[in-house]
Amino acid sequence: MSTTGNHTIRFFKGEQIPVELHKVRMVQKLNLKPIDERLKAIEEGGHNTFLLKTEDIFLDMLTDSGVNAMSDNQVSSMLRADDAYSGSQSFYRMEAALRDVFGKEHILPAHQGRAAENIISKVFIKEGDIIPTNYHFTTTKAHMELNGGKVVEIFGDEALVIKSDYPFKGNIDVKKFEQLIEKYGADRIPFIRLEASTNLIGGQPFSIANMREVKKVADKHKIMIVLDASLIGENAWFIKQREEEFANHSIQDILLTMCKFADLVYFSSRKVTSTRGGGLCTDDKEIYMKLRDLIPLYEGFLTYGGMSVREIEAMAIGLYETTDETVISQSPAFIKYAVDELDQAGIPVVTPAGALGCHVDAMNFLSHVPQEEYPAGALASALFIISGCRGMERGTISSERDEKGNDILADMELLRLAFPRRVFTLSQTKFVIDRLLWLYENRELVGGLKFVEEPPVLRFFLGRLTATSDWPVKLVEKFKADFGDSL
Ligand SMILES: *Cc1c(COP(=O)(O)O)cnc(C)c1O
Repeated sequence: MSTTGNHTIRFFKGEQIPVELHKVRMVQKLNLKPIDERLKAIEEGGHNTFLLKTEDIFLDMLTDSGVNAMSDNQVSSMLRADDAYSGSQSFYRMEAALRDVFGKEHILPAHQGRAAENIISKVFIKEGDIIPTNYHFTTTKAHMELNGGKVVEIFGDEALVIKSDYPFKGNIDVKKFEQLIEKYGADRIPFIRLEASTNLIGGQPFSIANMREVKKVADKHKIMIVLDASLIGENAWFIKQREEEFANHSIQDILLTMCKFADLVYFSSRKVTSTRGGGLCTDDKEIYMKLRDLIPLYEGFLTYGGMSVREIEAMAIGLYETTDETVISQSPAFIKYAVDELDQAGIPVVTPAGALGCHVDAMNFLSHVPQEEYPAGALASALFIISGCRGMERGTISSERDEKGNDILADMELLRLAFPRRVFTLSQTKFVIDRLLWLYENRELVGGLKFVEEPPVLRFFLGRLTATSDWPVKLVEKFKADFGDSL
């Protein structure tokens, strides 16, 4: 199926750069608007990049969710979609793909990843339960807490070290898992959650060796393992690259091995493939039956689950493509290029390069901005103003407040620049690197942000902020002076 998985090609004179192993057959025009218009757009969006309109954006690096480029095979599969409320052939093709790729027998559809999280939380979590995990994800935590659970992160010492060469920062600290069981008792732990390519700490993978250790302890105490497989393809790719035992295994084989450790696998198809949707997979009939009855209530009938049949068809093809090294390694190769270039230029970024995006350490980049003034949010706003590139704040704004109304300061203040699969070219990647270099030189000009409108739950999506001074205007003036134009 795949010719080579290696996008990073050595040039005649020794330089190594990622080369696109695909051709572009449909394009979308982009706008690079003048800096004054970008400033106006971010002010109207409350300095929240979620509230920008794509018409004002040059490179949209907000997320990898639902924005990977579809393949020709995916698009053509959508034409044969079988419209039916129940029993659609499209669903059975997706079911077969999930059985092949994840190796699980019983399949349930969900309209996206968080919908699966809602169902899992409703079925398995009761008031006062503890849910250990390598690291939380925003929507996961919200659903678990809404159902009375408490999420406890049991990552290892290396997980939060920004500059590191540790290959598996997503690993569970198994000792902490044992201590948690001792402290609360296994009855209060409905399951342990493993998140592949741990999103909020920089898309960092866990190893199969770690899964084995977790499984030993989980089995001993009869605790279920739930695998969040939203970014499983990239995690499998890193295992192949970084875990010696698997260097000669196929991605397909590694995916099956990973899923075998889990009693329940759920995923967001927005990440795994390029389509909307999601699902839940298990070999355990009892687990399946418990989850099944909530699907028609929250998602839709069992053979569409809130998705369109066109998306279901494209998802089936996308799942098989996830086993293709050429497909799955594209985004990590471009991320690695960006991370290495920025790191060499002295810009603080999370290393080693992970999945889904390049993560800039805003706490260090803007060390003069107090964490209470949201350095990652400020950096996202500043980068948009000076480049038209939209990133995402992954720091305290993405966190929440405690019972007393104080911010819970995040472990890390990251600006995430997502590299959706096969969307950006190398020259676009170089553009964003260049603008970050300029911004770093001029970082003293960037100030903080404060909330003016703050929703109580998942505030990062819809919250509005304002600059704590007129720093955005000063930044625009300096940009115009340096570049001699307004682009
Ligand atoms: C995106 C994501 C989810 C939620 O999936 P949606 O389809 O956006 O609802 C859950 N877990 C992880 C790790 C994710 O990256």
